[in-house]
Amino acid sequence: MTITQETDFCIDLHCHSTASDGALSPQELVERAATQGVTHLALTDHDTVAGLSAAALSAAQKGVTLITGTELSCVWRSHTIHIVGLDFDPENRDFRDALAVQNANRWARARAIADKLGKTGVDDLLGKATAKADGDVPGRPHFARVLMDEGVVRDSAQAFKRYLGQGKPGDVRAYWPGLGEVVQWILGAGGVAVLAHPRKYKMTASRLSALVSDFKQAGGKAMEVSTSGQSSGDLGFLAELCRREKLLASQGSDFHFPGAPWCELGRIAKMPDGIEPVWHHFKSPVGH
Ligand code: AMP
Ligand code: FE
Ligand code: FE
Ligand code: ZN
Repeated sequence: MTITQETDFCIDLHCHSTASDGALSPQELVERAATQGVTHLALTDHDTVAGLSAAALSAAQKGVTLITGTELSCVWRSHTIHIVGLDFDPENRDFRDALAVQNANRWARARAIADKLGKTGVDDLLGKATAKADGDVPGRPHFARVLMDEGVVRDSAQAFKRYLGQGKPGDVRAYWPGLGEVVQWILGAGGVAVLAHPRKYKMTASRLSALVSDFKQAGGKAMEVSTSGQSSGDLGFLAELCRREKLLASQGSDFHFPGAPWCELGRIAKMPDGIEPVWHHFKSPVGH
C-alpha cells in the first residue's frame, strides 16, 4: 500500500465528519488530514454540506485545498447507492432545497428504522440515536452505537450484521430518491457526480455494468477507483471498468474515525496508470 502522490500532491476526495457519521469535527478532520500530508481534501458527509464552512476555515489555516463535497444516498433498482458530488456550488439555491428534502427523507427513514427495530426492546431508540448524532438526524451508524450501548449487540459489525445491514429490518431504503435525480442535483449546482465505492454494493460484474450505464446516461462522469480496504484485485477490476466506460477516476479513503489502520486520511493505494483523474477536470484543476 503506497500513499498516492501525484508529484507534490496527496488527494483524498471522500471522508466524513460529525456533520454526518464521522467521529471528528470538520476542524479536527482537516487538521488530521494536514498531519497526514493531505494537500487536497473533499469532505463528503452523507446528504449534507453542513460541515463545509468550518472545514474551509480550518483548511485555509492549514494550507489544505478544500474541494466542496457531499455523498448523496439514492436508490437504483433495489440497491442503496452512494453518489459523491464534488466541486459544486454549495450555495446553489436548488441544491440547498434538494438537501433540505433529503434531510426530511433521512428523518422519515430514522423514524422508520426506530419502528422496525422496536423488537430489540430499547426504550426511546430514536431519541438515543438522535443524541448520538448531536441532535441531528441519526444515520445507521448512530443506531448501531445505541444498540452497542444497550448491550443488544457486541459491536458495530454485529449491529449491521443482525439489524442494519443490507436486507436486515433496519435497512430502510424506501425514502431515497432515484439515481438520476441526485445526479441532476449535483450537475445543477455545477459539480461532478462520482459513483462511490462501486465494490461495496456486492453486485455481479454485469449488474455493476448496468448501474454504470444508467449512471452515465444520467450525467455521471466519474467513479471511485481507489478506496480504502480494497484488494489489489478490486483495484485492477475498477481501473479496467473505468477505462472501458471512459469515466474519470476518483480516489478517497472514506475515513470515518481514527484508529482503523486500514482506513486513514490520505492513505489510498496508488491509482493504476492509464486512467484520467477527476481532479484534472476541477474548476481549478489539480496537478495538470
Ligand atoms: P446511512 O447513510 O445512515 O444509511 O449509513 C451509511 C453508513 O453506515 C456508511 O457510510 C457506513 O459508515 C456505515 N455502514 C454501512 N454498512 C456498514 C457495515 N456493514 N458495517 C459498519 N458500518 C456500515
Ligand atoms: Fe458513513
Ligand atoms: Fe458511502
Ligand atoms: Zn462515505
